[in-house]
Amino acid sequence: MVNRARFDRFVEAMSLLVAGADGNEDAILGEGRGLLAGLVAHDDWLDDSCCLPERERYRQHVLHADPAGSFCILSLVWDRGQSTPVHDHAVWGIVGVLRGEEIVTPYRLAGGKPQAGAPVRQRRGDVEVLSGRSADIHQVSNAADGVSISIHVYGGTVGAVRRYKFDPLSGAPQMFLPD
Ligand code: FE
Repeated sequence: MVNRARFDRFVEAMSLLVAGADGNEDAILGEGRGLLAGLVAHDDWLDDSCCLPERERYRQHVLHADPAGSFCILSLVWDRGQSTPVHDHAVWGIVGVLRGEEIVTPYRLAGGKPQAGAPVRQRRGDVEVLSGRSADIHQVSNAADGVSISIHVYGGTVGAVRRYKFDPLSGAPQMFLPD
């Protein structure tokens, strides 16, 4: 039996936080990090239908879309060996690992081209935040032998969560939508 109430409480707390923060990103990321850490500390609430990987590429399931379009919650499901392109988001984000392990590689633009920094291993229960105000270019890879699942909260509608991927040779940014 899935503990749906746990997720519902998270949605309610995030809704109150985002509505009360009035666009203050520091407040949202500061408190939201703790809320998401509380959610991913337990692996008893995500429905099996939102845990399914895909053979071709990592898969995204929409768990919640705020009616006012202020934020959305997704599960990203990674099969063994899958990773994202090098990309950026135009909105704030909070990411927590629910199952498995991921490696996040930060990039910075040097001479217009993305250059990799030191990779960071994100283990089950770890939470990281991304600012929408500055370039937070990164790549995420599944580091587990099997499926990994992370929960992503983004400060926009699902359709508006635009990302920019960077051509590895020219560094030219291109917009992409994951689904
Ligand atoms: Fe990302």
